[in-house]
Amino acid sequence: MTGKLPGYFDENSESLSARIATGLHKLGLAMKQQSWQQANGAGLSATQGQILAALVAHGPLSGTELSTRLGVTLPTISDSVRVLVEKALVTKAPDPRHPRASLLTPTATGAALGARARSWPEFMADAVADLSPEEQRAFFSGIVKMIRMLQEQGLVPVTGMCVTCTHFRPNVRPGASPHHCAFVDAPISSDQLRLDCPEHERAPEPARREVWEQFLRRD
Ligand code: SF4
Repeated sequence: MTGKLPGYFDENSESLSARIATGLHKLGLAMKQQSWQQANGAGLSATQGQILAALVAHGPLSGTELSTRLGVTLPTISDSVRVLVEKALVTKAPDPRHPRASLLTPTATGAALGARARSWPEFMADAVADLSPEEQRAFFSGIVKMIRMLQEQGLVPVTGMCVTCTHFRPNVRPGASPHHCAFVDAPISSDQLRLDCPEHERAPEPARREVWEQFLRRD
């Protein structure tokens, strides 16, 4: 089959980057829709579900810490926490680190709902599992770079990722695991980089930039 219009798609296609952005938008919509449906099924809003999931994953947190981790404004966090306290899913206690702040802890019921909320993105993991190992590696590498760029623009919170962590030492040795995590003192490969590590400590600028440049030198 030769085709009657051989150059049609050369002249009538958006750039690959634009089509990737469209694809990500569709994936984002699917994530939002699933989170909303599952949160609704559990009698929660998506933000309330995210808060419970974060408290299960990271232990007791203040409202400010939740706001930073989730990239949600403090007033929105406060509204959701008020509802979670009314529903007896979260308790508030004085934060020993900050006399005027409260530390939020899930109750047993809240922790059970939080554990369920943590698995909400699993439908996406099933779809990703269908990609070949090479496709998964390329996808993950692209995701790390995109999130890092969005963090620099202030659109994604600078939390949880190795490439912004004070313990991360990129490209310090040859081989399959060229990076190092000084927190656990262990080698780490590019495929093993964490996106949501509870031990993450944000590296200050300009160290963050230097770490990123060092990381890109081989990746
Ligand atoms: S502490 Fe966590 S985020 Fe930091 S380098 Fe180690 S694994 Fe990565």
